[in-house]
Amino acid sequence: MTQTTSAPEHEDGTAPPAARFDAVVEAAVQQGLLGEGGPVAGFIDTAGVRASVAALRDAFAATPGVLHTFAAKACSLIPVLRLLADCGMGCEVASPGELRLALEAGFPASRIVLDSPAKTREEIRLALALGVAVNADSLGELRRIDALRNPSTSSVLGLRVNPQVGGGSIGPMSTATDTSKFGVALRDPGAREAIVAAFRERPWLTRLHAHVGSQGCPLELIAAGVARTYELAEEINTTLGVRQITSLDIGGGLPVNFADETVRPSYADYVAALTAAAPGLFSGRYALVTEFGRSLLAKNGFIGARVEYTKDAGGRRIALTHAGAQTATRTVLMPDAWPLRIGAFGPDGVPKGGPVLAQ
Ligand SMILES: *Cc1c(COP(=O)(O)O)cnc(C)c1O
Repeated sequence: MTQTTSAPEHEDGTAPPAARFDAVVEAAVQQGLLGEGGPVAGFIDTAGVRASVAALRDAFAATPGVLHTFAAKACSLIPVLRLLADCGMGCEVASPGELRLALEAGFPASRIVLDSPAKTREEIRLALALGVAVNADSLGELRRIDALRNPSTSSVLGLRVNPQVGGGSIGPMSTATDTSKFGVALRDPGAREAIVAAFRERPWLTRLHAHVGSQGCPLELIAAGVARTYELAEEINTTLGVRQITSLDIGGGLPVNFADETVRPSYADYVAALTAAAPGLFSGRYALVTEFGRSLLAKNGFIGARVEYTKDAGGRRIALTHAGAQTATRTVLMPDAWPLRIGAFGPDGVPKGGPVLAQ
């Protein structure tokens, strides 16, 4: 599959890719890792990933025992998952395939969380047998779990809610609008009562989950969703007269700045927003689980592609590479919401200058 990529340099006025990667491109070309024999390759800065994980940990350092999971959909390549497992992360998976990848990458089952809105009976059975945590997406899915659960399972079981706090700037990717499809819609008539009843009927249901995500969402919106979830947990525990909910999976993710190399917002900004919106969240009353994907990797890698041909069309310069729709699915679907930064390099792998061309 090929993609047409116009103008070799940051033609839309955005900053070029990180200069720190320039030497990597050159070395890759010199070593033949990127060229005729391997026209497209992904590069990950493993030290950078470790530093991003450390920044995440530091931001939550005041709260002991937080389980930080990596959302596998952000990069479901086993070597990358293995690196994150090695950093001590857990893994958030949303399909049987992602679950297999997570296990193969070495995440212990007790650090894997299965979130998916459409779990089959077989998937639920397997997760429960392995001891993988499961967040039910609906009351219907909870009833399925009722029928399949063996009381001896070590899986932590939770329920996902949609706090309906509104959408971000990327409508189709927003997960907490009134009509978003994930979780039990919390503000719908009768929903709160039904959720409390669901917990009352199931003493083994000990976790609440929400994911107000993520790209294009302001931190305040994400924090408001987490605050509504925290308040619901408090309400359920108070109503039941027992602290049945012992953990909160506050989801992810952190919006990524795609325009340049600055990390903003930071994990520390995120924790500050959560602290302001839900001061009790970090009191230790609940064990916390987080789910971060893109923010852990976005600044820590790039895709290199050999320009196979160039041509002109209607006055536009076009470079044809092998990094096509398969490497930038979301950009292809929504180019304005998921911009790419593109740099040009010569046949020796050295950055190329030249006039900026129209896109
Ligand atoms: C995608 C996703 C995440 C991570 O989102 P990012 O924006 O990649 O950080 C977390 N939780 C769930 C349920 C998701 O679907």
